Amino acid sequence: MIDKLREKLGEGVLENEALSRHCTFKIGGPARYFFIAKSKKEVRRAVEAVGDLGINFFVFSGGSNVLFSDDGFDGLVIKVNSSELTVYVMNCRIVADAGASLSKIVEAAMENGLTGLEWAAGIPGTVGGAVRGNAGAYGHAMGESVEEIEALRIKNKKSRIKNYGKEDCKFGYRESIFKREGGVILKVVLKLAPGDKNKIKEEMDKIFAARDGKIPTDSSAGSFFKNIEVTDEIVKIIKEHTHEDVPPDYIQKGKIPAAWLIGQCDLKGKQIGGAKISEKHANFIVNTGEATAADVIALSSLVKMKVRDEVGVQLEEEVEYVGF
Ligand SMILES: Cc1cc2nc3c(=O)[nH]c(=O)nc-3n(C[C@H](O)[C@H](O)[C@H](O)COP(=O)(O)OP(=O)(O)OC[C@H]3O[C@@H](n4cnc5c(N)ncnc54)[C@H](O)[C@@H]3O)c2cc1C
Repeated sequence: MIDKLREKLGEGVLENEALSRHCTFKIGGPARYFFIAKSKKEVRRAVEAVGDLGINFFVFSGGSNVLFSDDGFDGLVIKVNSSELTVYVMNCRIVADAGASLSKIVEAAMENGLTGLEWAAGIPGTVGGAVRGNAGAYGHAMGESVEEIEALRIKNKKSRIKNYGKEDCKFGYRESIFKREGGVILKVVLKLAPGDKNKIKEEMDKIFAARDGKIPTDSSAGSFFKNIEVTDEIVKIIKEHTHEDVPPDYIQKGKIPAAWLIGQCDLKGKQIGGAKISEKHANFIVNTGEATAADVIALSSLVKMKVRDEVGVQLEEEVEYVGF
């Protein structure tokens, strides 16, 4: 199979590549085959190759929101590394390949006096990953700035390019049509607004400072669980379980942070194997050095069970499990 893959994709196809080298968690066994696609064309070629050869595949980019299994992945793992980026200052657009780094885009927007992405300062990963999961922070999310997406739709092992307007993307809280229905994002068109470069930089500096105080620096995949949507029912259930009121600030913002729910169960610092609930932020599971995916799963299962039993709320993972 490696020969057939190399025939189609070139000598760059690797065998038994450790996935721990390609994600921020630094966890994960080997990918049977691994390919870094450096352009949209190469992404498409790789997707077509797996269709022709009938093998399993998985597409990712920055690796900052995934947990790879200790057994790795039995198929071709395609890393989207296409990174062309063009800023159209006059019409306030940024057009980027899916594999372009989100922080480079945020920086380019600032340098060119375009406002709308300041909130995303400091979020790792690529713009493709951010669109797929509708990444967000400080009350904003990626979908707000999306004008158009070019993606590969894959059906019956055949792929075709499709363009999506903002409405077609069906963005929701950490949701998009690409997350629900699949597809590989190739290109992103962002629509921003004219702004003052100094003010944009000031706002970004504030965000960097806020994140510095809050976000753990140990290896992780970001917030592990999704926050919980506020409903009268949820607020009542939490009160019944904890005899505490949900803070009004959360009710006003419409989301109960998973970190607060986990904190209610006194789980900060809890460790299984090398996986630990960060002391700094209860919704971060960190790799203290030698964590396995099994450690992370055991710890996340414990968190879910405790939060369900003691707070009455069912948590759901934000991090994507791959190869389980
Ligand atoms: C320290 C830290 C802080 C973080 N802070 C935040 C935060 O504030 N807000 C937030 O929302 N997230 C945060 N994250 C999570 C993560 O950075 C974002 O979700 C990011 O947008 C993921 O992008 P990625 O390229 O790394 O995606 P990956 O991890 O590579 O992939 C994530 C998922 O997207 C899919 N995917 C990736 N690229 C594509 C593509 N081109 N087409 C289709 N599917 C694709 C993958 O299959 C996978 O299912 C944080 C993570 C870390 C480690």
